Amino acid sequence: MTNSDNSAHKPCFEALDNSDDLKAFREKFLIPKSADGKDVIYFAGNSLGLQPKSVRTYIEQELKDWEQYAVEGHTKAKNPWMPYHEFLTPQTAMIVGALPEEVVNMNTLTANLHFMFVSFYRPKGIRKKILIEAMAFPSDYYAVESQIRYHGFDPAECIIEVKPRANESSIRTEDIESMIEDHCDEIALIWLGGINYYTGQAFEFEKLTKAAHDKGITIGFDLAHAAGNLELELHNWNIDFAVWCNYKYLNGGPGAIGGCFVHEKHLRDESLPKFLGWWGHDKKKRFLMEHKYIPIPTVESWQVSNPPVFQLASLKASLDIFAEAGIENLRSKSEGLTGYLEHLIESVHSENVEIITPNDPQQRGCQLSLRIKKSGKSLYNELMSRNVICDWREPDVIRVAPVPLYNSFEDVYNFSEIIKEVLN
Ligand SMILES: *Cc1c(COP(=O)(O)O)cnc(C)c1O
Repeated sequence: MTNSDNSAHKPCFEALDNSDDLKAFREKFLIPKSADGKDVIYFAGNSLGLQPKSVRTYIEQELKDWEQYAVEGHTKAKNPWMPYHEFLTPQTAMIVGALPEEVVNMNTLTANLHFMFVSFYRPKGIRKKILIEAMAFPSDYYAVESQIRYHGFDPAECIIEVKPRANESSIRTEDIESMIEDHCDEIALIWLGGINYYTGQAFEFEKLTKAAHDKGITIGFDLAHAAGNLELELHNWNIDFAVWCNYKYLNGGPGAIGGCFVHEKHLRDESLPKFLGWWGHDKKKRFLMEHKYIPIPTVESWQVSNPPVFQLASLKASLDIFAEAGIENLRSKSEGLTGYLEHLIESVHSENVEIITPNDPQQRGCQLSLRIKKSGKSLYNELMSRNVICDWREPDVIRVAPVPLYNSFEDVYNFSEIIKEVLN
């Protein structure tokens, strides 16, 4: 296709931006600038979400209250620190489609994964294996391996990996289902990314959860790339547990506090093993300093420590923006943005680029993963030098994620013009 074919889309992005009801939300974020003072094309919100302009005020409030009240801030601060994490609960529940009692922000993703595995990976007899994706994120893989060793088993025997078929990039739901069928007596736990970080494939949560439960298998999801990206219904889908980080699509800031979900049906099950701390103990009796532990009858009983208030403040700033925008509106814009990106990349007709993310919007979020067949790394460097912030994953993938809160159709169009130039 020629240059003029693609510039035919130019009016298109203007019309799309003009009819975008969420357009104004971009103004709520600080967009990094290039050396010439222009906004970069930031397509890395899947790695680190941008800073909401309001974060500073939220954190300054806590600095002020710390200054003025010191220890008494736990009860006297404008947003008292003692229950501070509760202020985020309704919005977090909305983001992942959960009941308020099922979600809590605490620790960080991998730490939460370990806490959840303590409760939900309970090998018994021959039922001791964990089914995971072959391309699981390394941290998840290390955690799974170490949990298996912790129980005295050999990861080589206990990890079952499900992978895409030859010459395919995504994992077929039917292949996971038949794996479950084939190993139904041996699998203790299924652990999947809600969206695979590498390919951008979204798994069929509800179907897989049903397939697992039909065989008496517990199932959990890592929502690092799904929270704040997809419309989730963790409660209705009957998922057993999930964890996520809040620094990717949820803009909580570098190293932000993590999120955790445990289904209502498990909340009052006292037979579940748990690693305990004082923040999981009955709130009314916490400061009686007694040794008799009484669990909070919500997911908060998995909390161990008193939470980092600055982290919560930072996340609250972003959650307030999500609440205003509405996750369903964001998702709907996101499908439009990513569809537009896909269309423009395909219309470049380069033999060197293959989109490995599923083309069905139901099976992906906002990210597209571009497999670059030749000199991918130098192509990536070239994009970065032209102020496109995206990321490179060995061996041959560039991930681009237009985020509906702050990316525009113009960003997508400009990106497509740049990649076209770079490819030729
Ligand atoms: C980003 C990401 C992590 C990061 O874990 P942290 O504990 O937050 O450092 C883990 N797993 C997946 C799938 C991720 O995408």
